[in-house]
Amino acid sequence: MRRPVIAGNWKMHKFIADSVATALALKPLVANANHCEVIIAPVFTAIKSVADRLEGSNIKIAGQDCAPEKKHGAHTGEVAADMLRDAGASYVIVGHSERRQHYAETDTMINRKMHAAIAAGLIPILCIGETLAQREAGIAERVVRGQIEGGLRELTASDLEHIIIAYEPVWAIGTGRTATPEQAQQMHSFIRRVFAEKFDEEASRRLRILYGGSVRPDNIAGLMAQPDIDGALVGGASLEAETFARIVNYDR
Ligand code: PEP
Repeated sequence: MRRPVIAGNWKMHKFIADSVATALALKPLVANANHCEVIIAPVFTAIKSVADRLEGSNIKIAGQDCAPEKKHGAHTGEVAADMLRDAGASYVIVGHSERRQHYAETDTMINRKMHAAIAAGLIPILCIGETLAQREAGIAERVVRGQIEGGLRELTASDLEHIIIAYEPVWAIGTGRTATPEQAQQMHSFIRRVFAEKFDEEASRRLRILYGGSVRPDNIAGLMAQPDIDGALVGGASLEAETFARIVNYDR
């Protein structure tokens, strides 16, 4: 009942020409992937060009971040959620661990971005996940619970229908060290339980929870076989069309 989502986060890689070339190479390779939603997140400057070239295809576009402000105005350097939508995005990644770590994004800031994204009609992909030190200290669940509560503050039941969560243990991002399917499943099922406690059982059954952290063609099927893993947010392995397509077209 939950449609899987496979999303590629291109981070600060690729000029416009390379973004378009990769998107065009990906298009035929995933054209028959009716089992899931396919999303790519190019840099802001490439979104419009990529979206124009993918019009009518089954590949959707995500921004990698958005401004916390809902209203346009004097916010130098920011890109509003509805501007992303205007450029062709229908999703936006919010609260990625790189933004939390390197740009000091707090749950409060991330929560404002969630509200801004939803108000603009974008589907936010809220990233949460513990660091290695937090896992080793035995507080991974407490951290993740705090990120869910903080990130989703004051969202309504109907808002919650339109969000996606990505569990990305920080120690697995870009490190080649993937959580085992069992470790990921354990946290995904915890996230669904927290969501059910905080919101409601029905919404938690519908919530899509993606796993992120060194997902590759050779480990996606094992992850997707877990009952609470509904897709993947892929960094490094999404940069090359054929590799990403192998992840999208995982063995089912
Ligand atoms: C990410 O940045 O969201 C990510 C999961 O990266 P990687 O797949 O490279 O670990």
